[in-house]
Amino acid sequence: MTRLWEKVLKKINTRIDKSAYDYFFADTYIYQQRGNSLVVAVPNLVVKNTIENNYSDDVLEILSELEEQNFEVTYVTAEEIKASKEEEKVVSKPSKSEPEFFKNAFLKPEFTFDNFVVGDFNKEAQQAALYVAKNGGTLFNPLFIYSRSGLGKTHLLYAIGNYVKENRIKDAKILYMSAQDFVDEYVSYVRGEQESKSLKAFFYDVDLLLFDDVQILAEKVKTEEMFFAIYQNLINAGKRIILTSDKQPVDLKGLEERLVTRFKQGLTVKIGEPDVDTCVEILKQKCINSGFKPEKIDANVLYFVAENYSKDLRELDGAFNQLVFLALKSPEDKTITIDEAIKVLATLKSGKKVSTQLNEQKILNVVADYYKLTPSQLTGKDRFGQIVLARHIAMYLIRNNLDVPLKKIGQLFGGKDHTTVMSAITKVDKELKTDKQLQDAIAELEKRIKK
Ligand code: ADP
Ligand code: MG
Repeated sequence: MTRLWEKVLKKINTRIDKSAYDYFFADTYIYQQRGNSLVVAVPNLVVKNTIENNYSDDVLEILSELEEQNFEVTYVTAEEIKASKEEEKVVSKPSKSEPEFFKNAFLKPEFTFDNFVVGDFNKEAQQAALYVAKNGGTLFNPLFIYSRSGLGKTHLLYAIGNYVKENRIKDAKILYMSAQDFVDEYVSYVRGEQESKSLKAFFYDVDLLLFDDVQILAEKVKTEEMFFAIYQNLINAGKRIILTSDKQPVDLKGLEERLVTRFKQGLTVKIGEPDVDTCVEILKQKCINSGFKPEKIDANVLYFVAENYSKDLRELDGAFNQLVFLALKSPEDKTITIDEAIKVLATLKSGKKVSTQLNEQKILNVVADYYKLTPSQLTGKDRFGQIVLARHIAMYLIRNNLDVPLKKIGQLFGGKDHTTVMSAITKVDKELKTDKQLQDAIAELEKRIKK
């Protein structure tokens, strides 16, 4: 087992940068092997994400070269191992007498309230979640959280579970599952033709049910029936249930009326649309969580990423991981600039948006290109040559083409005061009245940014 991994590491070492190897692979080892499925232990979440996103194909390729068979590899962090050991899920065998359901239903320890950033868009949901985490009883039962995907529902569910376990009831039986897990389990259970009682019985001693993406149950009549029975048992026994969904209860088409009625009996909260400032906060928090100084990434870059990926926090996560990857590969004292960030983010699938959508960055790119400068010169502090003029023009174009507050434009240009931005824009406006060359330049730039 150890040998095999040593061989893999040796080969990886020849393929990638030394500093990347040292950071990402030096401290990994095989935690578990079952046939050709490997569980590899890694020190932390950043390493895990980076390997999964950037090196997992290399690892699989090397394994299949070495062993002439295909492998399946999962990466787990030290924290996950600790948590799963506590729950005796990864190592211990299920007891033989009782049927084991939902074997993978363990709480991911990395999603907590501490690292859930709160802004206007999600405050209500976070407060309700924290309330039910802190309090027993049945006020707000069930708590029903809904939002578009990628905005933190699953994170909140785990946070509740982790909180209860750590602070209130150490040996609580907490069950996190997505509705899809439930459907799958139900299907294989029915196939096994076991007594229907036993799946229900499995839930008798559950203290807290965290049920994710309940909309998936729609149109699955039999599964719904089973879920309804379990749901009622839990509610009647005064057990806490938290549900999430991509719609509010009344809009859940294809779900039985009696279920919908019950969902409405507790408290329903919505997660709205995130704003860019909160996304910047989320990014900073993520830097801190990964043991990483936020200063290592230029403030403009954080703002730029937030701006481009604020629609979906999962994408924001992906973008962040790419940045961390870049930052870790570059020398200790170097800051990641906006140019470098654009380059790596362009490799992300959703990165397409970065260049096509009209946003501040596109305007910066176009203006920089026109004046043969780099975007970071535009947003930087240099004051020679045409830089100042180009900078003022960029501010002017951003203000006129996008609905961006002066304060934010100031932030984008290295933390300038909004009055400075205002006076730059006024100056351009004034000169435009008389300066023919400037008129032509602006007309051409307007054309290019709308391409
Ligand atoms: P959903 O379940 O609504 O689709 P998730 O809970 O899976 O969304 O969130 C997507 C990603 O965004 C996760 O990595 C999560 O940790 C992160 N995330 C979402 N909301 C926040 C927040 N408020 N603070 C920090 N990270 C967040
Ligand atoms: Mg989710």
